[in-house]
Amino acid sequence: MEPELSGQEQVTARLLENFLNRYQPDQLLTGLAGHGLAAIYDSGQAGPTLLLRGDMDALPIYESNDFIYRSTYDGISHKCGHDGHMAIIAGLAPLLKETPPQKGRVILLFQPAEETGQGAKAILEDPQFQTLKPDYCFAMHNLPSFPLGEVVIKDQVFAAASVGLQIELQGATSHAAYPERGKSPALALARLIQSLEALNQNIQSHENFSLLTVVSARLGEESFGITPGEARLMATLRSYEDQTLEDLRQKALHCAEAIAQEYGLEMAFSWHDYFPATCNHPEATGIIRASARAQGWTAMPPEEPFRWSEDFGWFTRLAPGALFGLGAGFNLALHSADYDFPEALLAPGIRIFQGILNELVFD
Ligand SMILES: [Zn+2]
Ligand SMILES: [Zn+2]
Repeated sequence: MEPELSGQEQVTARLLENFLNRYQPDQLLTGLAGHGLAAIYDSGQAGPTLLLRGDMDALPIYESNDFIYRSTYDGISHKCGHDGHMAIIAGLAPLLKETPPQKGRVILLFQPAEETGQGAKAILEDPQFQTLKPDYCFAMHNLPSFPLGEVVIKDQVFAAASVGLQIELQGATSHAAYPERGKSPALALARLIQSLEALNQNIQSHENFSLLTVVSARLGEESFGITPGEARLMATLRSYEDQTLEDLRQKALHCAEAIAQEYGLEMAFSWHDYFPATCNHPEATGIIRASARAQGWTAMPPEEPFRWSEDFGWFTRLAPGALFGLGAGFNLALHSADYDFPEALLAPGIRIFQGILNELVFD
């Protein structure tokens, strides 16, 4: 597959459309929230509407692998394994063509722009999607650092909520020889970094986990002759509950406002890339465990929720659902230059989803 960045999944969408058309879904929606697609297999009988999601986007990372199927684009590659996730969800189309659901309907959803946290929300807001009203939703993510093929699942919070905060401090520049004639935000920025990081609480525990990571700080221009007049700081805030994240947002803002005031600076802020917590419904996790058991596999809970975020949290807010992991082995890391989705996960991934279908849309 040709990897494409979030919101630009044009070629990927065309490839999927061609593939899905071969397996004659009852309906194929395209152009969902940009380049998203939904292949719908409808029994025509009463029953639950089941949504299975695959994410479509790649990352701005240069692929260091040199195998034959390495990324065809310099600087863009599938370093989160979304190519594998798509292959698994698309792999259900031939099976549904051969054995259509006996009740309810199945939506194979291909969602753009997961990495920026924008795709899932945009799908939910798409008028075409709003007619579908799923009763259950499921998705999987491959998980490095877990045994290859191990099903990883837990009830309630599976992945953290997160949001990006950008703070701008505005002072006034002056000649570097006369700093007293300007208003430099240098000391305020230094204080801000320390104060924000001091907000971190319980980061080794599950209860009230609240983590703020300063990811970027910039001060003035790269000139030896100018006292800086502005500063910009970016931080990512995470927690396992939406309310804890809200509290952390308020604390971070108060902190920035107080420091700006103390140093006589103007302060502006903006929020970016919000992901709600992905909260797994016990009924949905029960179905995944049963599916794993039917294959003779055991599903293992992770020791604690994952600190990263997934925009599938928008779907688990919409309908009972669950995100589960499939272990990807120990020699890989997501978002790193040499990552490669393990092909060995394709068959087990399809089998787990088949088990979910068996439970909900077959008698
Ligand atoms: Zn990712
Ligand atoms: Zn991912």
